[in-house]
Amino acid sequence: MDEKLLSVDQALQQVLAGISLLPAERVSLMDALGRVLLEPAVSADDLPHFANSSMDGYAVKAKDVAGASEDLPVKLRVIGDIPAGTVAQISLSSGEAARIMTGAPLPFGADAVIPVELTSEPWRQSVRPLPDQIDVRGSVDSGGYIRWPGEDVRKGTEVLPSGHVLRPQEIGVLSAIGLTEISVVQTPRVAVLATGDELIEASEPLAPGKIRNSNSPTLTAQIRSSGAIAVDLGVARDSFSDVQSKLDGALERDVNLIISTAGVSVGAYDVVKDVLDAGGEVGFWRVNMRPGKPLAYGEYRGIPFLGLPGNPVSAMVSFERFARPAILKMAGHRKLDRPRVRATVKEDIHSDGRESYLRAIVVYEDGGYSVDLSGRQGSHVMTSLVQANGLLIVPAGTRLIQSGQAVEVMMIDWPETVF
Ligand code: AMP
Ligand code: MG
Repeated sequence: MDEKLLSVDQALQQVLAGISLLPAERVSLMDALGRVLLEPAVSADDLPHFANSSMDGYAVKAKDVAGASEDLPVKLRVIGDIPAGTVAQISLSSGEAARIMTGAPLPFGADAVIPVELTSEPWRQSVRPLPDQIDVRGSVDSGGYIRWPGEDVRKGTEVLPSGHVLRPQEIGVLSAIGLTEISVVQTPRVAVLATGDELIEASEPLAPGKIRNSNSPTLTAQIRSSGAIAVDLGVARDSFSDVQSKLDGALERDVNLIISTAGVSVGAYDVVKDVLDAGGEVGFWRVNMRPGKPLAYGEYRGIPFLGLPGNPVSAMVSFERFARPAILKMAGHRKLDRPRVRATVKEDIHSDGRESYLRAIVVYEDGGYSVDLSGRQGSHVMTSLVQANGLLIVPAGTRLIQSGQAVEVMMIDWPETVF
């Protein structure tokens, strides 16, 4: 068993080195949201695939209306009506126009569209008979208000590269090019094991010396918000055999990562390390980090394993710093970090020289970000985590940040755009 003091970054690099990309699976488009594409998406069609109008109006020949204005309108004969979804069997000659709706195909002979607002048609009424003729009160360049084939996507080109994260807009473009099934990275399955003789479930009555297991629900929620599936291994007592049998439960449940909480510190009943020593290749680290100093990492019977500390804030912050990037990496994401902002501290901040992640509230005011601690920083104090929207990072070796100085803050609840 090797026990070292690592920097947060060293620890993270070592965790990530043991994590590999999961294989691909084919899923329907609506099951692909938030996941990573694992094949290039190539369009078999032009988008748009025919020339169409970008306005409700009249398809015209631009040269017919070249001099038209409010004072000198040009009269055109209306020879057809083209609602969206139809194709007009007409060919425009000079002096003629065809009423056309947004998205309808441009008729043969037309090279521009005049918006209905620039005509004599009473466009404020929704149901309007087709007029025999219209006055055009403005001009348009050839090509005006027309969307040409391939303007958005050219047939045969790659719309999205392999590795792209699928957000709602990607789901939209993939459906527009007609893909209904795509290849994406499998969703990670992450097991959660809480350990501790003191733990009872939230549904059980409190008893002296006992506490409710809040880490499993927190971690389950963090796993889900990282885009993975949480697999609950329950609660193990602080005994070698119970921890071992609960961990073995993960083997049948097809998981890609095991996360445990508590029992990795220096307490007399911290048995997680012994079980791991027996069943896998595990390093026990002290990470130069606050909160969350103890961390176990390695493999349990071939499955990557992260042993997080037991204190609720330490567990959550360690998940943020180590488990979430690991989950994102196996799911094919390339951007593994939370976004950070630089913010000015509003009060003096003291630290103990470890790289500290302090619960904080970031606000945007007077053209910049400023940041304040969100409450007491004990690693059992969950309410200050509830108040926080970010973790203020005090670099290793720094013991005082003075009011007015700038710091980096890791934003823990900004929408995730992970490319
Ligand atoms: P340990 O790492 O076992 O020394 O635990 C550190 C602290 O975390 C102790 O106060 C534990 O009672 C607490 N703790 C451990 N597991 C949990 C859990 N699942 N939910 C809430 N608190 C916990
Ligand atoms: Mg314990």
